[in-house]
Amino acid sequence: MKDYGADIALIGLAVMGQNLVLNMNDHGWVVCAYNRTTEKVDSFLAKEAKGTKVVGAHSLPEMVAKLKKPRRVMMLVKAGAAVDGFIEKLIPLLEKGDIIIDGGNSEYQDTQRRCQQLAERGLLFVGSGVSGGEEGARYGPSLMPGGHKDAWPHIQPIFQSICAKVGEEPCCDWVGEDGGGHYVKMVHNGIEYGDMQLICEAYHLMKDAVGMSCDEMAKVFSEWNKGELDSFLIEITANILAFKDKDGEPLVEKIRDAAGQKGTGKWTAISGLDFGTPTTLIAESVFARCLSSLKDERMKASNVLKGPEKAAYSGDKKEFVENIRKALYASKIVSYAQGFMLLREAAAKFGWNLNYGGIALMWRGGCIIRSAFLGKIKDAFDTNPHLTNLLLDNFFRDAVGQCQDGWRAVVAQSALLGIPAPAFNSALAFYDGYRSGVLPANLIQAQRDYFGAHTYELAASPGKFHHTNWTGT
Ligand code: NAP
Repeated sequence: MKDYGADIALIGLAVMGQNLVLNMNDHGWVVCAYNRTTEKVDSFLAKEAKGTKVVGAHSLPEMVAKLKKPRRVMMLVKAGAAVDGFIEKLIPLLEKGDIIIDGGNSEYQDTQRRCQQLAERGLLFVGSGVSGGEEGARYGPSLMPGGHKDAWPHIQPIFQSICAKVGEEPCCDWVGEDGGGHYVKMVHNGIEYGDMQLICEAYHLMKDAVGMSCDEMAKVFSEWNKGELDSFLIEITANILAFKDKDGEPLVEKIRDAAGQKGTGKWTAISGLDFGTPTTLIAESVFARCLSSLKDERMKASNVLKGPEKAAYSGDKKEFVENIRKALYASKIVSYAQGFMLLREAAAKFGWNLNYGGIALMWRGGCIIRSAFLGKIKDAFDTNPHLTNLLLDNFFRDAVGQCQDGWRAVVAQSALLGIPAPAFNSALAFYDGYRSGVLPANLIQAQRDYFGAHTYELAASPGKFHHTNWTGT
C-alpha cells in the first residue's frame, strides 16, 4: 500500500470533526478522515476538503494503515456507546504506544475507565475537552487534554498549533492525569452556565428595575466589555440586545423565556454535591434554567402570587447600573473561585496534579467563557500555585472589596423589588459564609444530636464527640 504518512486520523465527520480536520490541515498536518457512514468521507473529500492534503479511509484497518507511528487517532463522535464501540474496534488494530484521543463531550468517569482499560493494553488514552463550538474547531478551539501523560509529547505539536492563541500563548496545555481533561471541560461548562445566568440577572434588573430599552442595555454591555468584564459572553450579549427583528423590534424580547440545557452544568453541580464543595452559583444557575422552563406553571402563578407593590427602582439610575456591574463582577469572581475549589477537590480525590494556571490560560481564548479576567486568574496561580482560594489572592480580594457595597445594594434592591437574582444572591451568601469564622452550624449539630444522637464536638475540644440527653427523659 502507498505510504500516506498521515500525522493523525480523525473519526467522526459531523460539524466538529470536519472543522477540526480542516484546522489541522491549515497547520500543515496530514489528516486521515473516517466516519461510520462512509458516504460522508467521500462527500467531505469532494466538497469541504477539496484541494487539501486530507486523505480518507473507508474502514478502520485502512485508516490505521495510513498513519505514521506512533499512531494518533482522534474521535469526535457522539459521547457514550459510540466512543466505546470505536475503542473496541481500534484495540486489535493498534500497537503498544499508539494513542487514542476522545475529543467529544464525554463524562469524566467514562474517560477514567477508558484510560485504565487502554493502559492495560499498552495504549495511551487521552480525553480532551474541546470548546468553542464549530467556529472554534475550525479556527482555534480551547483544548483541554488529560489522560496518559506519555501521549502528550506526541500530540502537543498538533494540539498547540491548532488551538486558539492569546498573543503567542496557546490555549492548550496538558491538564493532568486520567479523566482530568474531561473534568476540566465539565467545570468550564458549569462556569459557563454561571456566567450566562449572571448576565441574565443584570439584564433583568436593568430592564425591569431601571426600565432601560434594549438599545440602552446594548450600550451598557458594550461599555462593560471595555473594562474588567471584557469577555465573549458580554460582547455577544451587547450584539443580541442591539439585534432587531424584521419589524424593527428587538428579537430577544420575542424569544420564549424557557431555557434549555444539555446537562454539563448539572454534572458540575452534582460533582460539587458529591465532593462536598459549595459550587452554589453553578447549582443556582442550573436551577434558574429549570425554573424558567416551568413557563406554563409560572404564567398561572403570576396571576395568583403577589409581590411587592413597588416595581421600579426610584433612586439614582446611573449609580444603580454601575452597582449592577459591580454585582456582576464580584459574583463572577465568586463563581470562578468555586469552580477552582471544585477542581482542587477533584484533584485531591483522584490524585491528579492539575495545572491550575494552565487551565485559566486554556479558557482565556477559544472558548465560550473566554475573557480578559482569566488572565488575572493565571497570574494568581503563577504567583502562588498552592493558592487555596482565588478570593484570597490579593488582586481578587481587593476587586471584591471594591465591588462589595454596590453588590450588596443590588441584592437588597432585587429582594425589595421582587426581581429574582438567584446567582447574585447566592454568590453574596457564599462570600459572607466563606469570610465568617463562626456560622450557625453549632445549632445544626445540636438538632442532629437531639433527634438522632448524631453527637457533636465542642468548639474548645474538636475531635472529641459528645451526646446529650436533650429532653432529660
Ligand atoms: P455529534 O452529532 O455529536 O455526533 C455525530 C458523529 O458521531 C457522526 O460522525 C456520527 O456518525 C457519529 N456517531 C453517532 N453515533 C454513532 C455510533 N453509535 N457509532 C459510531 N458513530 C456514531 O457531532 P458533533 O456535534 O460534531 O460533536 C462531536 C462531539 O464533540 C460530541 O461528543 C459533542 O458533544 C462534542 N462537542 C460538540 C460541540 C459542538 O459545538 N457541536 C462542541 C464541543 C464538543 P454517522 O455520521 O455515521 O452518524
